[in-house]
Amino acid sequence: MGQSMVAIVEDDCTGCDLCIYHCPFEALLPLATNPPGRTHAKRPVIVVEQNCVGCLSCIGSCPTDALHEVAVPPISFESPLLNPSTQGETVVVKRWKNRATRWA
Ligand code: SF4
Ligand code: SF4
Repeated sequence: MGQSMVAIVEDDCTGCDLCIYHCPFEALLPLATNPPGRTHAKRPVIVVEQNCVGCLSCIGSCPTDALHEVAVPPISFESPLLNPSTQGETVVVKRWKNRATRWA
């Protein structure tokens, strides 16, 4: 853990949320608010670096190709314990039906 191996080009992310359900580790989550100056009406999804294990299950799930693999992620060079994440606040996404028998 602690190594991000995918990244999202924020300008290409429409916030459609499709990729969220392809991540088994809840590493793809929407920002709580839309950053100032963003051209899309909806807030983007980000890769929560601490949660991403680089399984690449999400690759190919994005209709705008905003998701891409990062071969040597910047977070691999420095311990997240020394440099706490500066990523924006995210919101929890309900991924399962109440009885957890299938995707929400
Ligand atoms: S690479 Fe795997 S863990 Fe990382 S965001 Fe994609 S699906 Fe989630
Ligand atoms: S599927 Fe692509 S456009 Fe949709 S939220 Fe994920 S990264 Fe953004």
